[in-house]
Amino acid sequence: MILTYKVKHNRDFSIELIKAKQIAEYSIQNHVSSSKEVKHIGLKSVISNQILRKYGRNKNIKQITNIKLIVPNQGIKINKEARTINIPSLKLRFEYLFPNNFTKINQIEIGEEYVYVSVSIQEKEMIQTDKYIGVDLNTTGHIAVLSNPITGKIIKMGKKAQHIHTKYKNIRRNLQKKEKYKKVKQIKQRESNIIKDLNNKISHKIVEIAIESNSGIKLEKLTGIRNNNKHTRSFNYSLNSWSFYQLQQMIEYKSKLHGIPVLYIEPAYTSKSCSRCSHIGNRNDKQFKCPYCGHVDHVDVNAAFNIGISSKIIGRLHIERDICKGKTDIPKEATNIMHSTLEPLTL
Ligand SMILES: [Zn+2]
Repeated sequence: MILTYKVKHNRDFSIELIKAKQIAEYSIQNHVSSSKEVKHIGLKSVISNQILRKYGRNKNIKQITNIKLIVPNQGIKINKEARTINIPSLKLRFEYLFPNNFTKINQIEIGEEYVYVSVSIQEKEMIQTDKYIGVDLNTTGHIAVLSNPITGKIIKMGKKAQHIHTKYKNIRRNLQKKEKYKKVKQIKQRESNIIKDLNNKISHKIVEIAIESNSGIKLEKLTGIRNNNKHTRSFNYSLNSWSFYQLQQMIEYKSKLHGIPVLYIEPAYTSKSCSRCSHIGNRNDKQFKCPYCGHVDHVDVNAAFNIGISSKIIGRLHIERDICKGKTDIPKEATNIMHSTLEPLTL
């Protein structure tokens, strides 16, 4: 499994980045493959070679945006005890706080502000279990509601997300009225950082609970969320899409690291049927009531139990997902996950 960590470098690489852009442009125009041909630009060949590899061979790239200095594995020296990474060609040495459990550094990319360290991690063997906890990510008032059908225990997480979202939405609306668009963008960023941090903690907790109870995790497939009329009951649809997807990604890769199986279940009826007798029940605001067996519960709790006991498996993480094929990087959204909290993943 490949993960990318983001670390702030506090250095000015603007000259090197300009040179890198020149090399990239040159290679697109002239299809060069040897660093000798771009030697005159004056970037170390260990880096210019990587840029040529990326841009010279790709005929689809017409324009260069967001150029980064690319350092291959051979150009990187690691000291795991001192937790430092050294890139001699750039005279860059920095400390890292991410876990030391990687087997190797694949490459490092350097942008204006951050170093992106791509590492390979040995995954744990998948645990064998038939116990599953159900996690509902699309609830009326929480980011996640977790159920353990065996113990009957329910845990609700991330209640303040709604409050955070409302607060920042109001701030943005006011700024928009005053036409302070740059500030609007900043506020948006701040909100997503807070939510990301929250998602990080929640996913950590979910995986921790799964490990402790020797269970796998069942989730609803969220990709079809728009076609799923369930979102009408979720507290804020605008918060849904990216933040729930982000949380799903975090649960996926943290589970994978710890050998926790993740199953996706069919989302239909999880909020409509009774978790005790599986008949279709009635909803009244946040209350679920089953006319057949008399079961009364909070809608989120009922849904979380339905997810936990569902046998309508429509996907298995770690088997079908690209993420598991080894070639795919963690999606962009997840790149700075660890950096933001720096929590060790030794659960
Ligand atoms: Zn019932």
